[in-house]
Amino acid sequence: MPKSVKDAIQRGRTTVEDVLQVGRDTVEDVLQVGRNTVEEVLHVGRNTVEEVIEVGRNTVESARRLGQGTMQAAVLHGREDIRIEDVPVPQAAPGEIIVQVGAALTCGTDLKVFRRGYHARMIVPPALFGHELAGTVVQAGEGVEGFPAGSRVVALNSAPCGECYFCKRDQENLCDDLLFNNGAYAEFIRIPARIVAKNTLLVPAHVPLEHAALTEPLACAVHGFEDSNPHPGDTVAVIGGGPLGLMMVHVAALAGCNVIAIVRHDGQADAAQQLGAAHVVKAPTIRKAIKETRELTENERGVDIAIEAVGLPEAWEEALEIVRKGGTVNFFGGCAVGTRVSLDTNRIHYGDMTLKATFHHTPAICRKALDLIASGRFQAGAFITGRARLYELNRVFEKLMHRNAEIKTAIVP
Ligand SMILES: [Zn+2]
Ligand SMILES: [Zn+2]
Repeated sequence: MPKSVKDAIQRGRTTVEDVLQVGRDTVEDVLQVGRNTVEEVLHVGRNTVEEVIEVGRNTVESARRLGQGTMQAAVLHGREDIRIEDVPVPQAAPGEIIVQVGAALTCGTDLKVFRRGYHARMIVPPALFGHELAGTVVQAGEGVEGFPAGSRVVALNSAPCGECYFCKRDQENLCDDLLFNNGAYAEFIRIPARIVAKNTLLVPAHVPLEHAALTEPLACAVHGFEDSNPHPGDTVAVIGGGPLGLMMVHVAALAGCNVIAIVRHDGQADAAQQLGAAHVVKAPTIRKAIKETRELTENERGVDIAIEAVGLPEAWEEALEIVRKGGTVNFFGGCAVGTRVSLDTNRIHYGDMTLKATFHHTPAICRKALDLIASGRFQAGAFITGRARLYELNRVFEKLMHRNAEIKTAIVP
């Protein structure tokens, strides 16, 4: 055989072998991908089935309890003493609704109450506990319109009277007879008639209940922000990286402001950045924080708006030190009863400062807050970083006390 024919055969054989090899590899790859996909599908399937079973179990469990007339609820007995107890399922009197809690969120106010064992205006133990919730109506009392059983709702923690001096002047947050409701950390909660009438909102189908439960704290943040006379492009400094501080950062960023977040911890710094802060100041002392914040503004003149969202007298004083002439300070964080601050009178007078504070929310602001959540612009998911069951509540609050915890934990009964 001529050499060239031999070569040709050899080349042919090599090519065939290469093709076979590539074929074999490809088949292997396809099999592997197939195997992985099947495993993923199985995994996702398993999780989904488990979730469905879990949701089903809870619903059946709740239905059983509803039938029996008892439910599990967190009862605050005093300082750092929450007990999960079997209590009667509330019944809807005229004008009231009973809501099966879908999610109840932990909140700084609840943490304060847990630590102190009471809240002068809101809760005197032993008492049902928790106030940020959304869920499904299971019973509507006589005369209730618009919330038939099965409606998904967010029921706010309070409602104004509508009759007093403040209510008549559109300052319903200052109502002399603000009615508070607690008991969100439970399977079911009774919503008083006044809250049903004034501060219960239908949750759009695409909004998860745990996101809708953010309406209350977000309403406080939106109220505080709007009260601070903001304009797009303003530089707004927010002191405090707790849940409300971070909400304020996000609300200000969404409104087109240049936001400086002043925080204590790394986790808070990351969250603030994710939520739209243009700058984060994390200084070891207040003096350094003031300096660093001013350095971020042109000619170190200070920020247009400073919002204090910590609730400490020294942070209130810090807020005045970082604001420019003619700027606005909002003392948004509530301090302990009896505390005082020391402010530089000259700075306030010759600097033509506006000092104000914002408390709570109004029905109109609550609607705005839910609209913002439903719009999808507000990153609701970023605020709910933990989930726990009712029986784990004590542990959740103990963790919150040590400040290495979640932004908000959704308690799912
Ligand atoms: Zn709250
Ligand atoms: Zn009133």
